[in-house]
Amino acid sequence: MLITANDPNRKSWLNIEKGSDFPIQNIPFGVFFTRDDIITIGTRIGEYAIDLGAFHQLGYFDGIPLTDDMFMQDSLNDFISDGRKTWRLVRNRIAEIFDIENSSLRDNSKHREIIIFDVNEVEMLLPISVGDYTDFYSSKEHATNVGVMFRGKDNALMPNWLHMPIGYHGRSSSVVVSGTPIHRPYGQSLPKNETTPVFGPSKRVDMELETAFITTDTNNLGEPISIKEAGEYIFGMVLLNDWSARDIQKWEYVPLGPFLGKNFASTISPWIITMDALEPFRCEAPVQEPTPLPYLQQKRTDTTFDIKLEAVLETENGDLNVLSTSNFKYLYWTMPQQLAHHTMNGCNVRSGDLMGSGTISGPTKNSYGSMLELSWGGKEPITLKDGTTRVFFKDGDNVILRGYCKNENIRIGFGKCTGKILPAVKLK
Ligand code: CA
Repeated sequence: MLITANDPNRKSWLNIEKGSDFPIQNIPFGVFFTRDDIITIGTRIGEYAIDLGAFHQLGYFDGIPLTDDMFMQDSLNDFISDGRKTWRLVRNRIAEIFDIENSSLRDNSKHREIIIFDVNEVEMLLPISVGDYTDFYSSKEHATNVGVMFRGKDNALMPNWLHMPIGYHGRSSSVVVSGTPIHRPYGQSLPKNETTPVFGPSKRVDMELETAFITTDTNNLGEPISIKEAGEYIFGMVLLNDWSARDIQKWEYVPLGPFLGKNFASTISPWIITMDALEPFRCEAPVQEPTPLPYLQQKRTDTTFDIKLEAVLETENGDLNVLSTSNFKYLYWTMPQQLAHHTMNGCNVRSGDLMGSGTISGPTKNSYGSMLELSWGGKEPITLKDGTTRVFFKDGDNVILRGYCKNENIRIGFGKCTGKILPAVKLK
């Protein structure tokens, strides 16, 4: 089925600012509270939030097989379960109705009032009910940088790293939507040159500049997904800040890996950008040497996406400090490889599962995706516009991730993924 929603020449009768992350070619999906306090599934065009529950009720999806309450839900899981054909039909129809030449909704002020909101009037919610959250570790640059700092140059990349997408199972209960403040976590850490740990608020709260993909129901328990079909099961992507407390992480991570240093919060952007919308931005992934095992080999070469990424620190005076400029295409392992690997042992993946990319660091210092790397383990402080320095984040710091794709015709953006660090809670 043709993705007519991607037509770069299409214009909308809605007024959309030039350079918006959300042109009519984007049509992402999210969940929000309307100004009347009703929860609905919606999309966004420019600075408008579109209530798809009302859109459906008023007949604008007529002819597409959808259950009556498909969009009147507090998560996208059921819609995602319906599969790629439905996603395409729905996106194509939305594009058609909002096309400048289409008068059906354009000239119906009563319907427009029910369906269309100012995006600032709605409150964005977590778009999916996350059943399981898996986080990969697929940036060679990031894995090498952290390996050098934690284990020394000679053992930086573990011997398995170039043979498979390394990952771990994270915690879904603490996945939160952009804008949710994050309290500095407590935990144990081992001070330098000491043998006894101390307890207190983390002194090394860090970001991880990541993206994540969201799956539909893929396989039954025991049935692997092949690399050939893996891409078909990916609904879309969000920005992900996988908050980390480096002092807690460093003390606890041997022998079983990340735990309390990672599971206090993971923030995602509210709008899921569909793989269909990202299709025009396919590009080649880094060459994989040695060649992966056959179950991880991909036939096509344009297996990844050119998504520009940025991490910005907003200090309390409102200054915006760009910390890092990276790109999704730097990742060594691709999303189909991650999903094929995840399920090759028969592990079942469900609708609404969240798969983090791992911190996306590029080859240069200004493209590192964590403060751990940017300040090189805390040894090289970063000077901000207000003259203060950071090695890790302070209370009151607001961390903003952004992401967008751009070619000569269109820009498809992710909006923002933000989280402000609050002081540690008072212990009872
Ligand atoms: Ca991570």
